[in-house]
Amino acid sequence: MFGLRSLRIGRPFGIPLEVDASWLFIFFLVAATLTTSYFPAALPDQSPTAYALLGAVTALAFFGSLVLHELAHSLVARAGGLEVSRVTLFVFGGVSQLEDEPSSPGREFLMAAAGPAMSLLIAGACWGGAIAGGLVGAPEWVLVPLDYLSMINFALAVFNLLPGFPLDGGRVLRAVLWALTRDITKATRWASRSGQAIGTALIAVAVFGVLRGNFDFVWLAVMGWFMSALAAGAYRQHVTRVRLGEVSVSSIMSTPAVVVPAELSLEQVGHSYFLAGRHPRYPVVQEGRVIGLIDIEHVTEVPRDRWAETTVGEVASRSLENAVASPHASVDSVLPRLEPGGPGAVLVVDEGRLAGIVTRSDVIRLIMDITRDRDQSAG
Ligand SMILES: [Zn+2]
Repeated sequence: MFGLRSLRIGRPFGIPLEVDASWLFIFFLVAATLTTSYFPAALPDQSPTAYALLGAVTALAFFGSLVLHELAHSLVARAGGLEVSRVTLFVFGGVSQLEDEPSSPGREFLMAAAGPAMSLLIAGACWGGAIAGGLVGAPEWVLVPLDYLSMINFALAVFNLLPGFPLDGGRVLRAVLWALTRDITKATRWASRSGQAIGTALIAVAVFGVLRGNFDFVWLAVMGWFMSALAAGAYRQHVTRVRLGEVSVSSIMSTPAVVVPAELSLEQVGHSYFLAGRHPRYPVVQEGRVIGLIDIEHVTEVPRDRWAETTVGEVASRSLENAVASPHASVDSVLPRLEPGGPGAVLVVDEGRLAGIVTRSDVIRLIMDITRDRDQSAG
């Protein structure tokens, strides 16, 4: 997000947890606001060190609340059979990155509701803790942060429950519309329009506030603009995903696949394929069978003076199980294999015979076609 690096800070329940650099800004903003204004007002006559310490601890607890909110989404998603690739905290909160869309409205509903439910639970626990603490005479420096955490978690739940996709409340709305219409695309369209409407309303309120001289409302405008953009983007992403699920790999594959004979030397493959061709990766064949994949890195890893005596068969990668798909498989289903770090190409094999090859550039071309069609039909 925003092109900044994200930092991996742990793997709770086996789910990679990352913090985007933009989130550190919010963390320091929260800690600084607590230290310099909230605590000095709520807890007078303490030392600056005490305020700084309370500010840092409370900001950390707020951070923990956000993590618990996201983990609630992720764990419910996983219980429903979805893979969670990671949880990322960024400037506007958190996102749980799912490998796929939920398979039913019921699952989506539970998954979306789990996060705000967790925030409400934390708010309730902090509120109860503050009340119980007050009864037994706990010191103010315990009660005031608990009060603050209860308030901020309640606000978090309320904000996330705004019924605009892709916020949690928007996902709940989509699940309900999906159950009613049995059409996930229609449901997504309405839920994201609701998100755009909420964004526009926030901007309108902000303009009204600013016109009346309150410049704090500028933040509301930023949030409204962000929500509108997020909602429109989430709908576009959904439409693209659906189309990728409908198109078969055989209709976008490059055919006939250019193959490299295993007995060729690296010198020859460098000249005739990597320099002359347009692909960074080729299937390797031996006696008519595909035995592996060779890419440009396999060649450059070998010292230049050994290219003439080394054959393609010696350096090609032999792990093919991830790289093969049937012609009828959907483009959507092979996407994970085209991600960086994966095999990077999918061999389309029809009854044991190599029918073609799908690379990232084939998919990018398809996505560009889908985008153009969609923009034309919208405009
Ligand atoms: Zn959430």
